Amino acid sequence: MYGAGDVRIENVADPVLQLPTDAIVRIVRSCICGSDLHPYHSMPDTPGGAQMGHEFIGVVEEIGNDVATLKKGDFVVAPFAWSDGTCVFCQEGLQTSCEHGGFWAAGDIGGAQAEAIRVPFADGTLVKAPVSEDSELLPSLLTLADVFGTGYHAAKQARVTPGDIVTVIGDGAVGLMAVLSAKRLGAERIILMGRHQARTDLGIEFGATDVVAQRGEEGVNAVRELTGGHGAHKVLEAVGYREAYNQALGVVRPGGVISRVGVPQYEDAPIGFGSLFGPNITLTGGPAPVRAYIEELMPDVLSGTINPGKVFDSVISLDEVPAGYAAMDNRSALKVLVTP
Ligand SMILES: [Zn+2]
Repeated sequence: MYGAGDVRIENVADPVLQLPTDAIVRIVRSCICGSDLHPYHSMPDTPGGAQMGHEFIGVVEEIGNDVATLKKGDFVVAPFAWSDGTCVFCQEGLQTSCEHGGFWAAGDIGGAQAEAIRVPFADGTLVKAPVSEDSELLPSLLTLADVFGTGYHAAKQARVTPGDIVTVIGDGAVGLMAVLSAKRLGAERIILMGRHQARTDLGIEFGATDVVAQRGEEGVNAVRELTGGHGAHKVLEAVGYREAYNQALGVVRPGGVISRVGVPQYEDAPIGFGSLFGPNITLTGGPAPVRAYIEELMPDVLSGTINPGKVFDSVISLDEVPAGYAAMDNRSALKVLVTP
């Protein structure tokens, strides 16, 4: 990406092993993320450009001498952050705060909208999946790299438990995964706030019991009406704009939890007596340590019990990635799958 709206496909040098803990992975499927649209809107002109992409599954092609758990030919899922798997935060299941970790497409680590990538701390980062390259499960496995784990994190941080009334704000891929996750954790009622019917229809398939298309005060009133005036126990916010935070405050009930996984595009918002403190609201959320959830979520993907890969409504080649950004930006595509 060279600047807002300027995505190009270029030939770059093949990645090579640099450290004995590295692996080289040939990317079999990648995708474009809703969060890639933020730089697509606002990135200043950048001479030399920046590599893009942080979601991929693929096949291990080479390993460094210290890689112990993987071998050439293994099929792997990569989380959107790489991590050593051994530091105190990794051991606590918060791999996005790894003391030695980082993110794809940053520094000298390449992006995943590519044919191959160097993976640091391969043992800590990658998770093996018992599938072949032609498996029909690939789209669902790819959601474990980010959107499913992120939606699941929203629900876990909110401590969704059986019987809860949950409101999900946002009908993008993460919002829909938050619906699936709330359902998985036993929510009794799931109110999805979103305006795009094809997406909210998929949300209903994933477990939403109600859809509220209105936004702002009108949307808040609709959720209040659906909940006997009380509001939702848990609110999963998967948008990131200040309006979505206001909406969350409006629909959460006293004693409830607001869990945010949409990357906040604001720093200031109400937290005082009239907003969070008075009604005993818990505010939580953050970048999902999806590495912590891959092993937990994968069995249901492999068995076909759940099919999160349905969020991909478009499949393109690597050469078509610039058009893929445009399609997600103008919302003609929900989430674009890339086949290098
Ligand atoms: Zn770590």
